[in-house]
Amino acid sequence: MLATTPAGIAIFDFDWTLIDTDSDRFVIQYLSPEIRKKLDDKSIQWTDRQNLCLEEYYEQGGSGHTIREALTKIPMDPSMIDACRLLHSKGWNLVIISDSNTVYIEGILEHIGIRNLFSAIITNPAHWDDQDQLRIKRLIPADAPHGCTVGVCSLNLCKGQQVEQLLLQHQQGSGPASIPMRMIYVGDGQNDYCPALRMENKDEKDIYFVRRGRSLEAYLTNKNKVGVMEALKARIVYWNAANDVLQELQAAL
Ligand SMILES: [Mg+2]
Ligand SMILES: [Zn+2]
Repeated sequence: MLATTPAGIAIFDFDWTLIDTDSDRFVIQYLSPEIRKKLDDKSIQWTDRQNLCLEEYYEQGGSGHTIREALTKIPMDPSMIDACRLLHSKGWNLVIISDSNTVYIEGILEHIGIRNLFSAIITNPAHWDDQDQLRIKRLIPADAPHGCTVGVCSLNLCKGQQVEQLLLQHQQGSGPASIPMRMIYVGDGQNDYCPALRMENKDEKDIYFVRRGRSLEAYLTNKNKVGVMEALKARIVYWNAANDVLQELQAAL
């Protein structure tokens, strides 16, 4: 549930942002280093590739038990947990927008004990079938493309469009649409650029956290990409480790 009058909306990417690994790669590697090699086959779309790797794992006799076990091994920095708790305690709505999937994200958050901090998880739908086999599907199916032209979004997910929908829901729930929702975004990957185009600069209060050394920073600082940085209005804060995010939030909230 989205709180109707939040202090703002804090949006987190999941892989290499909330957690300190890539959940898709981590789980498949845990199940089978041999099958993990097939994740590098770029001829198949990423979400479909996940599902195919899982199918192969089950064909080889794998079980859902080991997948659930893998989710308990995922590393998350305690400072990132503190940052989430801080935002939540200050009345922010916390939302995850991720190219992972519902089963991984909810399983990991429940294991850590922080599922309750998040009001929405927007990601690829996954479920356990009646054989306890995990099935993953694309959030945006192939036959109904999102049509985003920014150039950083994958076929199955435009994070910018998801942010737009979230903002609409918040406006509908919280009085005058003319009062802009304060926004914080934390990410690391190139596909975290599109949603930042939806951020404003309200008295320097919108903060765009960009992780150092990963594809988002590379995209922002690529000299061949004209106007990429200029299109952003929010205040940019670069971070290396979760404690950088926590300290900035402690000062800014
Ligand atoms: Mg990421
Ligand atoms: Zn997009």
